[in-house]
Amino acid sequence: MTESARKVPYTTDNVGIPVESDEHSLTVSPDGPILLHDHYVIEKMAQFNRERVPERVVHAKGAGAYGFFEVTQDVTQYTKAVVFKPGTRTDMLARFSTVAGESGSPDTWRDPRGFALKFYTELGNYDMVGNNTPIFFIRDPQKFSDFIHSQKRHPASGLRNNDMQWDFWTLSPETAHQVTWLMGDRGIPKSYRFMNGYSSHTYLWVNEGGERFWVRYHFKTDQGVDFFTQAEADELAGHDADRHRRDLYEAIEAGDAPSWTLKVQVMPFDDAPDYRFNPFDLTKVWPHGDYPLIEVGRMTLNQNPEDYFVHIEQAAFEPSNLIPGIGPSPDKMLLGRLFSYPDTHRYRIGPNYTQLPPNRARTEIRSYAKDGPMRYERSNTAMPYAPNSYGGPAADVAAYGKPAGWYSAGEMVRQAYTLHAEDDDWGQAGTLVRKVLDDAARERLVSNVSGHLKQGVSRPVLERAFTYWRNIDQDVGDRIAKQVNGG
Ligand code: NDP
Repeated sequence: MTESARKVPYTTDNVGIPVESDEHSLTVSPDGPILLHDHYVIEKMAQFNRERVPERVVHAKGAGAYGFFEVTQDVTQYTKAVVFKPGTRTDMLARFSTVAGESGSPDTWRDPRGFALKFYTELGNYDMVGNNTPIFFIRDPQKFSDFIHSQKRHPASGLRNNDMQWDFWTLSPETAHQVTWLMGDRGIPKSYRFMNGYSSHTYLWVNEGGERFWVRYHFKTDQGVDFFTQAEADELAGHDADRHRRDLYEAIEAGDAPSWTLKVQVMPFDDAPDYRFNPFDLTKVWPHGDYPLIEVGRMTLNQNPEDYFVHIEQAAFEPSNLIPGIGPSPDKMLLGRLFSYPDTHRYRIGPNYTQLPPNRARTEIRSYAKDGPMRYERSNTAMPYAPNSYGGPAADVAAYGKPAGWYSAGEMVRQAYTLHAEDDDWGQAGTLVRKVLDDAARERLVSNVSGHLKQGVSRPVLERAFTYWRNIDQDVGDRIAKQVNGG
């Protein structure tokens, strides 16, 4: 039968050879045995056994989409980055995620959300790998694996364990600000469309003249911030574990493209040493009153991936992807992530991950990288080494401009950041509770924390948790203790 007469195309194996059957393996008689001659059934089984790449250790459950970023305001006085030049429109990819849950876990668990962006610029890929909170639990990457171990599953039972979570949090008071945020309304966004994204880290911006600024990014949702209560989220977790993934996909399919307005806080380079908070401490915000938001542009997500695994599961975001005009700051967590993100991609999806569709730059790659598993693109260098005398690419420092960097000199130490006038672990968490939350939101905070503490948190840890909350806010701490103790 010709293909046109059959209506559907014929099945092939992985190298294009027509297969004899989709349903029956080749056997000696109808009752078997199966013959090794049936290469296709072996290929099917072997391929199936290799379908998974390891899920991300953190941020395993996510959703993503393609879109674009448009610059609406002129910020060239602060940065020469091409992505922020007036009139520029840059294609992008975004991935949102929960942090602690595995790839099949419910989207509506209380957790911070990842907010990872990739801009395909004319000078290569720029990634902004943020969260939906402007802060984080810890300020030193030395503690990152300990922190995550305390939030994931107990080694003996394989269960999530609130006792471990509070044990770590109460022994690490720098977590107070983020824990307060997490236990409040924003700890469970209504969906990825209804949350803001923040760089959280401070970055360096450098303008055409070589002037340096510190910067923090705020992507404000144009859909408005909205959330689920604990009860709503618990109910949804039971019958729609993919709520947030579904919401993003269906909104884009329906032509309702979500968008976010990018605003930045800009700090003159020389303000940093004397600012009242350490501006590089990831557990602190810069109050808006000190550094107001300046609009930059808008991100719109309007295209679903045609294949989730190819484009989202294999998407590899890395804070180390910084283009001229944008550099890192002394934020220790950021510096740790500059190493660990590319490292995890090499392990998880292989050393040639930058050649995969979501990760490949839209510019010509002229690196001297070579070979390795699954490499399929040739190198664009005349010879596989630099320098060479055959016309291979050569680094052009002048074209890059004055390298972005901060000045640093001093002894090697192992200690927390230099304290600034108002640095402490409880202050900004208390400000959030007293200044930002209203009575109803404070009541939900007390109820969320009490509910969490009532689930398997042991006595010594519990007492520390009450002290922790009284340090943040005496009244809120007293109310939590009362609710937990049944008073
Ligand atoms: P502002 O009054 O200028 O800003 C308060 C901000 O709090 C709002 O702009 C909003 O941020 C955010 N917010 C509103 N409701 C909640 C909530 N339920 N949970 C968490 N955040 C919420 O005050 P300051 O700049 O002086 O900051 C006061 C406190 O607000 C900080 O200690 C911090 O906890 C929190 N905050 C500060 C941010 C900053 O960058 N300065 C950013 C976000 C929160 P948004 O507009 O981004 O939605």
